[in-house]
Amino acid sequence: MAGPMLLKESGPREVFCGLTSIVWLHRRMPDAFFLVVGSRTCAHLIQSAAGVMIFAEPRFGTAILSERDLAGLADAHDELDRVCRELLQRRPEIRTLFLVGSCPSEVIKLDLARAAERLNEELTGRVRVVNYSGSGIETTFTQGEDGALAALVPLLPASDERQLLLVGTLADAVEDRQMHLFQRMGIETIRSLPPRQSTDLPAVGAGTTVLLTQPFLTETARLLSDRGATVLTAPFPLGAEGSRRWMEAAATAFHLPDERVAAVLDPLMERAQSALARHRAVLEGKRIFLLPESQLELPLARFLQRECGMELVEVGTPYLNREQMAAELALLPDDVPVMEGQHVEQQLDRVRASQPDLVVCGMGLANPLEAEGIATKWSIELVFSPIHGIDQAGDLAELFSRPLRRRQLIRPGLHPSSPDATVHA
Ligand code: SF4
Repeated sequence: MAGPMLLKESGPREVFCGLTSIVWLHRRMPDAFFLVVGSRTCAHLIQSAAGVMIFAEPRFGTAILSERDLAGLADAHDELDRVCRELLQRRPEIRTLFLVGSCPSEVIKLDLARAAERLNEELTGRVRVVNYSGSGIETTFTQGEDGALAALVPLLPASDERQLLLVGTLADAVEDRQMHLFQRMGIETIRSLPPRQSTDLPAVGAGTTVLLTQPFLTETARLLSDRGATVLTAPFPLGAEGSRRWMEAAATAFHLPDERVAAVLDPLMERAQSALARHRAVLEGKRIFLLPESQLELPLARFLQRECGMELVEVGTPYLNREQMAAELALLPDDVPVMEGQHVEQQLDRVRASQPDLVVCGMGLANPLEAEGIATKWSIELVFSPIHGIDQAGDLAELFSRPLRRRQLIRPGLHPSSPDATVHA
């Protein structure tokens, strides 16, 4: 059967680690605290990724493993207990404490599950302690959210109530909008994981239909399915087409009449088409290379090819869950290379050889490629931007058309990194 060409490679990687997801998770659940158990490097990463909060008490921090801890000379468990007790005394508003593992804590085999168990016994009723790994060993940055949500699944109460559960962090306004649309279509009970308060956990059971908002929540989806929920397989809500199909998957599961669904979605599709037209004019026929990092690459590639007319040179993805991504793979053109994994040197060679118009990549690769005259888009920006849903299709396309417009505006022959070349497009 024809379809995209599924390939694999492994080797040196150039991606952010799972600690990065704390940046959006701590904003989502203001009553939670994320304590990274790691080194000074981990502390620097999380502070520079999230910005240092000067006026507000931050809701994340690092319990630094000292050289004595790393050498096994001190009892890191005692030290961790002390840090947690002090933190909770100082911050009585914390309701859920996430102990987040890192490369150093994994290397010294610090058992954070045991630490969480011990602290839960001590703090019963006051605060809940859960643990997950944000380590960069063989993981990529969006897996941090998968780990955090998977850690919450065992805590969800059981209920067989009929409900739609949206799983994955969306910007609050975007999530409100999707819920409103589902309600207009006829779904009465809609909940979300993660919730907006860490203690307001949704129930789960045989009546729960799960719709993933993000493609990187494989482990969470598996655990929800073990709890009796039905996890839908659908394209992800990026772009007008993907978002519509995503909503229609829920509509089918809830046996909603087609006319009612169309009455809600058709006008939105019309608006999205006109919002897209302006960007399609820039993107059509342009060649794009997506390097693996965010795990959003497949839905983005599908959107850029089908709705913006771009040509896909190669679509990289850190991991490929063929079952969960089946609907996305089915919408990609025949023979387009989908490369799972990363060998950064070989990928850069292929980028240079193919000279695409735009490369989606991590921040570490963007500057060198820009210096070589290749336009780039940071993949991490796509995780931080409100890009989900039919209404956002135009904004999503703009994230890709902007760097190309900027290039067009820069005078030919002028190096883009030159101060004279700065154009605010
Ligand atoms: S978890 Fe690992 S990759 Fe991430 S900042 Fe810490 S040491 Fe670096």
